[in-house]
Amino acid sequence: MQTEPVFAAQGMMYGGAWREAQTGEQFASLDPATGGTVGQAPMGRAADATAAIAAAAAAYPQWKARTAADRALLLHRFADQIETRKDRLARLITQEQGKPLREAAVEVKLTIDSFRWYAEEARRAYGAWIPDPVPNRRLITMREPVGVVGAIIPWNVPAAMIARKAAPALAVGCTMVLKPSEETPLTALLIAEAALDADLPPGVFNVVTGDPVAIGQALLEDERVRKISFTGSTAVGRLLLRGAAEHIKRVSMELGGNAPVILFEDCDVGKAVNALAALKFLNAGQACISANRIFVHSSIHDRVAAELAERAGKLSVGNGLADGVQMGPLIEKAAVDKVAGMVDDAVARGARSLSGGSRLTNGDLRNGHFFAPTVLTGMTADMRAANEEVFGPVASLFRFDDPDDAIRRANDVPYGLAAYVFTENMSRAIRAGEQLETGMVGINEIRIGAAEAPFGGVKQSGIGREGGREGMDEYLETKLLALGI
Ligand code: NAD
Repeated sequence: MQTEPVFAAQGMMYGGAWREAQTGEQFASLDPATGGTVGQAPMGRAADATAAIAAAAAAYPQWKARTAADRALLLHRFADQIETRKDRLARLITQEQGKPLREAAVEVKLTIDSFRWYAEEARRAYGAWIPDPVPNRRLITMREPVGVVGAIIPWNVPAAMIARKAAPALAVGCTMVLKPSEETPLTALLIAEAALDADLPPGVFNVVTGDPVAIGQALLEDERVRKISFTGSTAVGRLLLRGAAEHIKRVSMELGGNAPVILFEDCDVGKAVNALAALKFLNAGQACISANRIFVHSSIHDRVAAELAERAGKLSVGNGLADGVQMGPLIEKAAVDKVAGMVDDAVARGARSLSGGSRLTNGDLRNGHFFAPTVLTGMTADMRAANEEVFGPVASLFRFDDPDDAIRRANDVPYGLAAYVFTENMSRAIRAGEQLETGMVGINEIRIGAAEAPFGGVKQSGIGREGGREGMDEYLETKLLALGI
C-alpha cells in the first residue's frame, strides 16, 4: 500500500523556531508496516538540548507570571491547532507507529482532551490558610510551578504522551523540553507545529529530536532543568533515576508493566472474552497496561481459551492505514524477534499455541514487522512471558483453582501498573481491588484511562501519576509563607 507523506518536518523546534541539528545530521523515521521512510528528523545531540533548555529557562519567568486563566486560553488554542490537524496527526501516528487509523484517532482525541482538561484544572491550583498554633503569626501555602521540565516519552502512544506531560506542566506555569522517541519524532514535530501556530510564547514548549543518551544526559546534568518526567521502560527509568539523584531533581516515572487479568469462575464469560480480546490486541499488545498474564479459573478455562483463540484467528492484521485492519505491526524487527523468542521459550517449556504463534511474512506483510495474534495455554511461572513484559500480541493463559492463589500469583512480580478482574460477585471484586498490588485495577472494565483520572504504577512500574489532579501536582511545589503580624 502506498503511504503518502502527511508531514515534512522543517527541523526540531525550540525557542519558537524550527532548527536544524547543530551538526546538520538527520535520521529517518521508518514505517513499521512497510519498511519505507515516513520522513526525516534532525539528529539532535547535547548542544541542541542545551540550546533548548536555555530557551525554556528564558521563557519560564514570564510564563510563570501569567495568570492561570491566560495560560488556559493559550492551551485551548494549542488544542484547537491540534484539532485542525487531527486527521493528519492520526495518519502520521499510524505511519510512524503502526496502530490502526481508528486507534490513532482515539489517541488524538485523548491528546486534545488532556490539553483542554488541564487548561481548566490549572485555574484550580491554589494553596491554603493554615490554622496556626501561634497567635501572632499566620501560615499560608501557595502552589508554584516546579520550573523547567525535561520530558522523555516512548513511541507506543506518541501523541497522547506529549499531552499527558505538557498539558499539566504548561498549565501550571512550567516550561518544557521534550524528547520524543527516535521511532516517532515526526508526530512530536507536528504537535510542535501546532504549538507554533497557537502562538505559544517562544521557549514555553520545545521539542528536541535525536540521540537519546546525549539529550537525556544534557537534561539530567543541566541545573536549570528542575524535573525529569519519563515514560518508558523500567531499565531506562532506573538509569534516569540515578542521574536525577545526582542533581536532586524531581521525577515522575511511568515505567513498564506486567498486568495480570483474573477471570473468576463467576464472571460473565462472554463479556470477559470480548474485553480481553480488545485489551490484548490493542496496539498489537504494545501497551504498558496490556494483559500480560491471564489467570483463568479451571471451570471456565477451556471455553475462554477456545473463544479467545477464535477471536485472535479472525483478526484482520495489516497496514493500519488500510480499511478494516484491526491490528498493525510491531514497532521494529527486534520487537518481533523478542516476541517470537518468548513464544518459543513458552512452547519449549510445555505451553500450547491455540492460535498464531509466529511471524506473518506473506504478501503485503513481507516488508513489515508483523506477528500473528497468539493465544497460549498451559503457561507456568518459569516461562519468560510470565516474568517479562511481552509487549506484543500474545495472550498467555494460566489456570487456577483457588481464588487466593490467583491473587498471590498476580502480585508475584516486581511490577505493579494495571490489573483487571472479571467477576459478577461484588464482594470478590472489591476484595481483589484492594488486594492487587498495582496503581490501577479495572473491574469488569478495561478502559482505565481518561484525562480526568490518575494513571500510574507502584513497585517497579513507577513513581507518580499522570492524569487527573494528581497529574497536575507532579508539576507543582508547595511554598509556605509564614507571616509575623
Ligand atoms: P524505552 O525505555 O526504550 O524508551 C523510552 C524513551 O527513552 C525513548 O524516548 C528513548 O529514546 C529514551 N531513552 C532510551 N535510552 C535512554 C537513555 N539512556 N537516556 C535517556 N533517554 C533514553 O521504552 P520504549 O521501548 O520506547 O517504550 C516501551 C516501554 O514504555 C515499555 O516498557 C512500556 O511499558 C513503557 N510504557 C509505560 C507507560 C506508563 O504509563 N507506565 C506508558 C507507555 C509505555
